[in-house]
Amino acid sequence: MKKTLKIRKLLCMLCVCIIFIVSNSFIYEQINADEFSSALQSEDFEIIEDEDLLTDEELKDHGEVDEEETFTLDDVMKSDYSASAEDEDLPKDGEIGLDYFDVNDWKIVLINKQHSVPEDYEFTLGTIKTSKGSMKCDERIIPELQQMMQAAKEDGVTLVICSPYRDYERQIYLFNRKIKAYMKKQMSYLEAYRVTAQAVTVPGASEHQIGLALDIVTDTYQSLNEGFEDTDAGKWLAQHSYEYGFILRYPKGKEDITGISYEPWHFRYVGKAAAQYMYENDLTLEEFVADLQSK
Ligand SMILES: [Zn+2]
Repeated sequence: MKKTLKIRKLLCMLCVCIIFIVSNSFIYEQINADEFSSALQSEDFEIIEDEDLLTDEELKDHGEVDEEETFTLDDVMKSDYSASAEDEDLPKDGEIGLDYFDVNDWKIVLINKQHSVPEDYEFTLGTIKTSKGSMKCDERIIPELQQMMQAAKEDGVTLVICSPYRDYERQIYLFNRKIKAYMKKQMSYLEAYRVTAQAVTVPGASEHQIGLALDIVTDTYQSLNEGFEDTDAGKWLAQHSYEYGFILRYPKGKEDITGISYEPWHFRYVGKAAAQYMYENDLTLEEFVADLQSK
């Protein structure tokens, strides 16, 4: 009699244990599914050939810049867009307050993991044709880009633009390539996704897709990694890019706000007034837009 009771007790405990384990793994699945949201839709994930995978070296940073996708001042000046240069009206007294800005202005559209590119977002791609290839970005930013590169040159700094506009397919390709490379290093899909999302923007959440982001390097340093901040170009950009309407989009120390690790080479056009305001108040685009929404 006593023995049956013991066995029953044991069975009961076993049941409780099994229920606990099963329910926990169910919760785990649910959290993951939410986190991955639409990115997990199978059609978004293409097969990537092994030879296209990143090397160990490339995994650490964003790798070397593709020579065929870099554009110098001479290239950029060849475009016809300079004629349409139209200086943004900055207040005469130099004082810019939050009231100056309209949160719906295209220049300050917020794109990040939480805010993907709006479906009805419209812009015109400007194309600058060179002997190497063609560079594309929102045509409205070209005059100020030209001004910035020219000013840098006058200060003895050579700016080289790389991969300005990337379409959705290209972003998916870059993202998947990195995930797969991490998985080859024995990471689970979940781990690989998380690490990748910190370094490469999730497809649909990249400013490169709307032609307002530029990766900028220099003639003597063409790697997209933290070392760029110590180059003359990196220093010049950090100090002067705002004067031409471009902000360092993912600054050091603000990773928890932007959700992206420090990228001293990635610049985002927001217009001169907004860039000046963000520079002077040490704000990321996330913080600036939040302030505008609560004003
Ligand atoms: Zn970039």
